Amino acid sequence: MRYISTRGLAPAVPFCDVLLAGLAPDGGLYVPETYPKMTTKELAALRYASYSEVAFKVLSRFIDDIPPADLLAICDKTYTAENFKHSRNGADPKQIVPLTWLWETTSRLGNHGLGILELSNGPTLAFKDLGLQLLGNLFEYVLAKRDETLNVLGATSGDTGSAAEYALRGKKGINVFMLSPEGKMSPFQRAQMYSLLDSNIYNIAVRGMFDDAQDVVKAVSNDAEFKAEFKIGAVNSINLARIIAQVVYYVWGYLRATDRENSCEKPIDFAVPTGNFGNICAGHVAREMGIPIRMLILATNENDVLHEFFRTGVYRPRKAADVSITSSPSMDISKASNFERFIYDLVASDSKRVRELFSSSDGFNLSGDAHFRSLQKRYPMPSHASTHLNRLSMIRTTWEKYCILIDPHTADAMAAASYHFRPNEEVSMIVLETAQPCKFDETILEATRVAPKIPQGLVGIEDLPQRVVVMNPDPGEVKQFIRDHCA
Ligand SMILES: *Cc1c(COP(=O)(O)O)cnc(C)c1O
Repeated sequence: MRYISTRGLAPAVPFCDVLLAGLAPDGGLYVPETYPKMTTKELAALRYASYSEVAFKVLSRFIDDIPPADLLAICDKTYTAENFKHSRNGADPKQIVPLTWLWETTSRLGNHGLGILELSNGPTLAFKDLGLQLLGNLFEYVLAKRDETLNVLGATSGDTGSAAEYALRGKKGINVFMLSPEGKMSPFQRAQMYSLLDSNIYNIAVRGMFDDAQDVVKAVSNDAEFKAEFKIGAVNSINLARIIAQVVYYVWGYLRATDRENSCEKPIDFAVPTGNFGNICAGHVAREMGIPIRMLILATNENDVLHEFFRTGVYRPRKAADVSITSSPSMDISKASNFERFIYDLVASDSKRVRELFSSSDGFNLSGDAHFRSLQKRYPMPSHASTHLNRLSMIRTTWEKYCILIDPHTADAMAAASYHFRPNEEVSMIVLETAQPCKFDETILEATRVAPKIPQGLVGIEDLPQRVVVMNPDPGEVKQFIRDHCA
């Protein structure tokens, strides 16, 4: 399996090169030359497999430059009950990603219902752990093989930074320099990051906003000489390894949703909270592989760049100042960095067209394009944008009807699911849960007056000692710090 750039001007490379590169040298995103296929029989053979086995089977379709025994060991080490222990609702942590049915009925056509697939049982209680935990172990493995080191530099407004740090803490040959806006994250998020005392983790709080931190990271990464000398790397959401790791939970979710009928024929729907188009891109790949997924319902909040495109064909990235701060903050994006992967498929792998479309940061209009007009037939992806009030109402009804608390991002998906749900079609709807409610307790309290429980082991995290250095948003200052502390 080789990987090519969506912009068509970079040589094809094997997986491990994609892993370390992030962006392709022509500015495009890496995609597989063709999507590997999984037949109904191959899928059915995974029904009694563990999550780690399913992960290995899916990943080995994409990764052929790591010996299978090593890849299996990496999966076994990543997807353990200990690592994903924060399961709730009586679910077995060995499931890694448990499915909880809110309701289920049997009819002439078999079983169907509404389920929540719990992707947020990992160390940082958000779905990013499922991709980043694997990425951390893959990095460590490949760097050791090549006898190389890496200094990961990133900026975070919350979830990504902590998931990356938990994935890379204590890893040999890797240092993490994570910039965050001083005083802008919730006390729980701050504690999650700053209480990591591992010697390879450096938290840098920047006097400013998230965009200031992001600008510093861009300035440092654009200094090619510095980047090469200090082996600066990234773990952002355009990394293909994260997307591939996320394909696994769609396969797993499909299997769990069809366990009762023990059949891999019947299609199901997924409702997917997405910001950078990473979460739903993995669903698109799973469907292209042949997993029977009928609709991928794209859920956004007030930052509706993607909803606008799927409704109208107009892709209009916003100015940073036009991004709303919402109660589902991990989806507050101005543009969707993985979207180019989908557009590449939509325009039938025409990389020249992709280059034209993404040449300007102002976006593009595909409303008159035949590819766009056939989009919903070829890649069914209805969308929905919810408001704060929608989220409150979804959190409240899910609590009142089913005694289950969902977080505001999951509530975005629940709102999209109920908007597009047609009970007479008898197709199961699986809502992806991307974070645990305790990370966003203010919104949960507002909706239900119930304080979400903090999982055991994380109680009191805010009282632990913290390690963080405070800096001005100055690339020079950050570079000096990296020079003084790098691997
Ligand atoms: C990052 C994140 C999302 C969106 O994921 P994308 O990869 O941007 O699609 C949704 N929910 C939560 C809780 C997140 O942290």
